[in-house]
Amino acid sequence: MKIGVCLKQVPATDTRVIINPTATGIVTNDVKWEINPYDEYALEEAARQKTAGKGTEVVILTVGGAQTEQRLRDALAKGADRVVRIEDAALDGSDALGYARALAAAAKAEDIGVLFCGRQAVDGDNGAVPAMIAEILGWSQVTWIDKLGIEGTSFTANRAAGGGAKEVVTGSLPAVFTCDKGLNEPRMTKLPDIMAAKKKPIVVKNLDALGLSAASVAPVVVEDAMSLPPARPAGRKLTGDAPSVARELVRLLREEAKVI
Ligand SMILES: Cc1cc2nc3c(=O)[nH]c(=O)nc-3n(C[C@H](O)[C@H](O)[C@H](O)COP(=O)(O)OP(=O)(O)OC[C@H]3O[C@@H](n4cnc5c(N)ncnc54)[C@H](O)[C@@H]3O)c2cc1C
Repeated sequence: MKIGVCLKQVPATDTRVIINPTATGIVTNDVKWEINPYDEYALEEAARQKTAGKGTEVVILTVGGAQTEQRLRDALAKGADRVVRIEDAALDGSDALGYARALAAAAKAEDIGVLFCGRQAVDGDNGAVPAMIAEILGWSQVTWIDKLGIEGTSFTANRAAGGGAKEVVTGSLPAVFTCDKGLNEPRMTKLPDIMAAKKKPIVVKNLDALGLSAASVAPVVVEDAMSLPPARPAGRKLTGDAPSVARELVRLLREEAKVI
């Protein structure tokens, strides 16, 4: 069985976001890119499942341009065997469904049996692509997993069910899992792995190679404009003795912030 990982590059979480002049996206000139943090858990889980003998190969699937290749090399150094990078002009303005169609077609073409994704991409934060992939392929899916066991074609996955509760889900492969913090501890790369990753293949496919048309990835959700949230008012420092500061703080929390 081949193990797939959907991996996306995102702006580093400490990037200062600047909206471009046409309000259609962010200025990317000075952006430092990284692998989506939740995809690191997906990649680590795929590598561990392969080491445990549950799969034969770890294949990364990504939609993105040539500028993603350094992140893909980083991922190849962390236990993946090869990459299928999907690039097509028609995907530039596509939406989650368009991306999911492309990734699902690639997973099918690669005969993937289990697909690991991140819980969400920390830039768009849609958390939509993996569920759509599972639906398109007609596969089982479990989101936000923090524990997974695979036995033959059966799986048992633990997921956060809110309020600290855990849900235990059993099912059968093929399946899509979205990976949460706590599932594993992503590995650090070692120099020999970085060197070996340089020789691993990155194959680029367009929509035609995946049997998809440009029309099939045309967006149904159109992002009109992007803006930053309004600037927050400056903080206020209370002065005086402790009892009067406490009294004033309670008054402000009750009358101005209205949180108590
Ligand atoms: C030029 C441009 C124009 C766009 N225009 C629109 C638009 O008009 N309407 C709109 O809705 N969106 C638009 N988008 C955003 C794009 O559709 C989103 O990136 C997409 O919907 C995925 O959402 P997300 O990034 O929040 O992923 P999520 O659904 O949060 O991602 C969850 C997981 O899915 C996988 N995944 C997600 N994206 C990828 C990827 N690219 N490659 C591999 N795995 C992936 C990863 O495992 C990730 O952890 C545009 C993007 C670009 C670059």
